[in-house]
Amino acid sequence: MKFADLGLSDELLRAVTEAGYTEPTPIQAAAIPQVQMMRDLIAIAQTGTGKTASFVLPMIDILANGRARARMPRSLILEPTRELAAQVAENFEKYGKYHKLSMALLIGGVQMGDQVKALEKGVDVLIATPGRLMDLFQRGKILLTGCDLLVIDEADRMLDMGFIPDIEEICTKLPKQRQTLLFSATMPPPIKKLADKFLDNPKSVEVARPASTNLDITQRLVKVDERRKRDVLNRILDKDEGMTTIIFCNRKTTVRDLAKSLKRDRFRAGEIHGDMDQSSRIAELERFKAGEINILVASDVAARGLDVKGVSHVINYDTPWHPDDYVHRIGRTGRAGAKGDAYTFVTDRDAEAIDNVQKLIGVKIGWADDFSSKSAAAEAEEADAEKPRPARKKAAPSERERNEKSARETKPKVDSKPTKAKARKADPEPESDADGEPGWNGPVPGFLGFGFGS
Ligand code: AMP
Repeated sequence: MKFADLGLSDELLRAVTEAGYTEPTPIQAAAIPQVQMMRDLIAIAQTGTGKTASFVLPMIDILANGRARARMPRSLILEPTRELAAQVAENFEKYGKYHKLSMALLIGGVQMGDQVKALEKGVDVLIATPGRLMDLFQRGKILLTGCDLLVIDEADRMLDMGFIPDIEEICTKLPKQRQTLLFSATMPPPIKKLADKFLDNPKSVEVARPASTNLDITQRLVKVDERRKRDVLNRILDKDEGMTTIIFCNRKTTVRDLAKSLKRDRFRAGEIHGDMDQSSRIAELERFKAGEINILVASDVAARGLDVKGVSHVINYDTPWHPDDYVHRIGRTGRAGAKGDAYTFVTDRDAEAIDNVQKLIGVKIGWADDFSSKSAAAEAEEADAEKPRPARKKAAPSERERNEKSARETKPKVDSKPTKAKARKADPEPESDADGEPGWNGPVPGFLGFGFGS
């Protein structure tokens, strides 16, 4: 199938060609005609499948006719995180460059002034995180009665983040006669309930879960001893200098500590987690995208859905607590036909969690035999630990020295096996991307808040 067969406008086809796409992805081929027919839609698809364009493209054509009115957005896209909202806005800019539509992005961590100004002028597309949208709504800055196209993106993630009550409330503020599109990687019962309540005779489309069926991703489990994670990580990272890697941790504190320790060991590493302000998150992402750093240590919420090209490896430094997170994490690699590797560290305590992951994806993941938990060097070092050591020669550290050093440095820092409940209490996840953070004083990207198109 060709994009031209989908009946998109010439302007859109031009933008799509310039984006370098030759044919629609399966989700685009399935969803675009439904959106064009004004049907409600449930799409089971996750990031990496081209799902964003599957709603952005037809929306641009639908919105090309009509005019925006002050404070009354014509369409609304709800996203669970600020990064995803910004990514969708970038998509609108890319595909809408030959249209004259206006857009506003309502996300936390950004000063509200410009967002409100854009809204007051009237926008065709409003892209928002639920918290900030509710905030503005309660201040009477926005009316949703003219909004007859609603997209709920990443619905299962919204559920994880506790946004479902907000979404239900938002749905009641929109006109009853509207088109609603719901995208979700999985369909847990609360999402099904939400769809039953707010969608009208929806068409369901589903594309294969790429994370479980994407043969381009080689998935492996790595048996590790909790205290040896850092040692094993070094061995993976040292295997191939050219790796571009996202390392996922379950807790923000682990993200911070690990990034610090990698930097100390002269890896080009950065970090992204929910405790960072928006400008630092964006700056760190830009450094990663630009190749200034090749390792990004991340938490689930902050990295959800990130679309970074050329990620060769995903390493789950911690087995994720929620099996869905596994699917999202490894989907950061193996994108757009590229090959990817996904390693998941599994300690004795993770047996149940990894079992749940395998149940969800319907695949038994093989064990990597090339990274045993304890290297001979590490064993020797441990046995040797109490003995006095001869002074080391001062020379550039070898790979082995780097491993040993990091193993030593990491040891005293390792947590004393907290229980799941304890761990959550100490550093609660999911990190809230709900709004109300201090204003964003960093650079404001062009797509924030103002019109686009030529
Ligand atoms: P998404 O699933 O929306 O996060 O998109 C994943 C990636 O696929 C993004 O980098 C898009 O730019 C890219 N993409 C979207 N549609 C196509 C297409 N038809 N052909 C090739 N790449 C695409």
